[in-house]
Amino acid sequence: MFGVTLSTIIVIYIAVPLLVIFLLWLFCEMEQKDLPTVLKDQELMIACPYCLHVFLENNDEDILSCPACSSFVDRRKDVPVKNDKKTV
Ligand SMILES: [Zn+2]
Repeated sequence: MFGVTLSTIIVIYIAVPLLVIFLLWLFCEMEQKDLPTVLKDQELMIACPYCLHVFLENNDEDILSCPACSSFVDRRKDVPVKNDKKTV
């Protein structure tokens, strides 16, 4: 017969759980293949300031509509607007 040494048992004891973890990781990665992970060049990630819903938008309009709460979101809000009108 063949002799099983202590080092062989230790290698099997470490290798089998690592193989199981690797296969689980591989299975989870294959399940998530359909999720979009990279933004396209023309898409912007916009957060609604009212409901904090994050959505992607690819049109050039300055005023957008939040798909979750339907409120208007000003894309230019982050850019400081200079107000030339003086209040009386
Ligand atoms: Zn919203």
